[in-house]
Amino acid sequence: MITSINDRVTLNNGISMPWFGLGLYKVTDAKEIDRAIKTALQIGYRAFDTATFYRNERFIGKALRESGIPREEIFLTSKVWNDAQRQKRTMEVFDESLEDLDSAYVDLYLIHWPVAGFFKQTWQVLEEIHRSGRARAIGVSNFLVHHLEDLLADSQVVPAIDQVEFHPYLFQKELLNFCRGHAIQLEAWGPLMKGQIVTKKPLITLAKKYHRTPAQIALRWDLQHEVVTIPKSSKPERILENAQVFDFELSPEDMHLLDGLDEGLRLGPNPDHVTF
Ligand code: NDP
Repeated sequence: MITSINDRVTLNNGISMPWFGLGLYKVTDAKEIDRAIKTALQIGYRAFDTATFYRNERFIGKALRESGIPREEIFLTSKVWNDAQRQKRTMEVFDESLEDLDSAYVDLYLIHWPVAGFFKQTWQVLEEIHRSGRARAIGVSNFLVHHLEDLLADSQVVPAIDQVEFHPYLFQKELLNFCRGHAIQLEAWGPLMKGQIVTKKPLITLAKKYHRTPAQIALRWDLQHEVVTIPKSSKPERILENAQVFDFELSPEDMHLLDGLDEGLRLGPNPDHVTF
């Protein structure tokens, strides 16, 4: 049972990661990032999710440094983008990320998308980075079961994380079970359906029942499935709202109801068609 924003999951290599963090996609304004990160840190967030693709690592590094919170209390995730995989520039872009983040290491480094024909080579570079101690854990993102099977057959290190689109309308149960069976921790991106969750009738109904908001219901559903979740907001009031999910519990019946909303609905791209 996850009852605090400080609660952590132990990943398959023994390092621990907060169950809950702040997503930072599409926040590219330095002041907005600074305010979001400082608000989040005050509330108790310690995990921050970025990527080279988001073009905000420099601002995140600066905000974290200025916050005065010791680096070892922070859990920082970044990701290698697709063109770097195709151009075999993973090591270079990783070095650039560390420089921008103003840190000697990241806590987690992910392959952003499974670029066909390239992701296995990329993984070898991530393994090298991991051995060097500059990424405390390595993992993947947007990998389906067959991508994971393919990778596991050819690698030394089992990914610590698979970060995928995950919300009640895309309940990836088969993938969740596969990951559990292989000690890979699932992490939800788009847990609020990019904001659309607040318009969904079943979520609104449950929100009324629990005296919560639809966003809080969706995030609590992630946590009760033991899925790490990283909702994005740059609005202070929503950064707070999204973190108020540790003092209530959805009943088994309501978990089941939410599970039943699955429509296989992807708001993001299909990982089998990575042409970008
Ligand atoms: P989310 O599902 O987290 O939704 C974010 C949107 O919802 C924003 O528009 C935000 O607006 C709005 N929002 C936030 N809180 C609330 C609330 N309480 N009520 C109503 N609306 C709200 O989508 P993301 O795509 O951002 O996913 C989360 C994170 O996952 C990303 O930021 C990124 O770090 C990661 N990600 C990873 C991907 C991958 O391929 N690995 C792909 C996409 C995302 P506002 O800011 O105005 O509050």
